[in-house]
Amino acid sequence: MSLTMQKTYLGAAIVATMALLSGCDKGAKEDTVAPEATETTESATSEPEVTEISEGTEPASTEKVTIYSSRNEQLIQPLLDKFTAETGTPVELVTDKEGPLMARLEAEGENTPADMLLTVDAGNLWQAGEKGLLQPLKSSIVNENVPEKYRDADDLWTGLSLRARTIFYDPSKVQPTDLSTYADLADPKWKGKLCLRTSKKVYNQSLVASMIEHYGADKTEEIVKGWVANLAAPVFSNDTKLLEAIDAGQCEVGIANSYYYGRILEDNPSFPVKLFWANQGDGADDFGTHVNVSGAGIIKNADNVVGARQLIEWLSSDQAQSIYASADKEYPVKPGTDESEMLKSWGPFKQDDINVSIFGKRQAEAIQLMDRAGYE
Ligand code: FE
Repeated sequence: MSLTMQKTYLGAAIVATMALLSGCDKGAKEDTVAPEATETTESATSEPEVTEISEGTEPASTEKVTIYSSRNEQLIQPLLDKFTAETGTPVELVTDKEGPLMARLEAEGENTPADMLLTVDAGNLWQAGEKGLLQPLKSSIVNENVPEKYRDADDLWTGLSLRARTIFYDPSKVQPTDLSTYADLADPKWKGKLCLRTSKKVYNQSLVASMIEHYGADKTEEIVKGWVANLAAPVFSNDTKLLEAIDAGQCEVGIANSYYYGRILEDNPSFPVKLFWANQGDGADDFGTHVNVSGAGIIKNADNVVGARQLIEWLSSDQAQSIYASADKEYPVKPGTDESEMLKSWGPFKQDDINVSIFGKRQAEAIQLMDRAGYE
């Protein structure tokens, strides 16, 4: 990247960048459609290639980059306009829910106009890779900016922001010292006090997949059964309703992504529900709080591979990441990026270190396990 480009990027629009990097845009509906429970198949496309990696020296693409995105168009478009102004690369945005976007990519095959997929959750990104819809990023810039654990092992996609899924509680009934781990929420002491979002949402599938990786299936199933036995209410359709249910006294504890909490706090700073970072101790269960990604990949049949790569590199850059971190409620994926005041107020926390690809690899197993455990 040239010095000129670096300087230009520093001026990128804050609002627009935070919008693009936000996993679920404010005012938008839930950002993805939960995938149906399906059998996994062995990847037919994951034979590793030895190929040259882009050193970021390619001239900016003058061809259009077409993005298929599960994000809110109104919020993303201003940022894409900025990218176009800075690089000369035109961008076309096609927005839909996760499920229809994937189906469209599969149906279009070699004729797809899409160059890039932008979506949330490693489980969704992994599915796109597994369906053979993506090609390796081959970007030394992305490899440098994004820690390996937030990138696909086969280089088919990269995280661009982090989302922490953790425990929330009613401080009038629960003390932080009562809380410890996700697994502890299966303890009978929480009977009639726990709220959960539906297991159909990929966020919970990814959380349970991570637990299978850490605990094995048998112990994880016992934990999930314990959660179900402790439910205070039927499962919720989204994290915001769950947090509001804690506030309303319907339950005392629950699990949600922290950016939903941040949005509520922004509108209502006195919202009484509190955040607790899960799995932070020194015990065997304390592998850190579950962290997922939003991210992007280059479409396998892309016409403009170079342009898509350059846009993804731009989103992983210091400039985009720092703007994001100062203004949004998710966490930057690039280490060392300054965080917003709200994020700082929640304090530092230990992140689970497993590669986020695991969430996809164990997704079908997690779905089946949750079904056996009666988690709806
Ligand atoms: Fe979300």
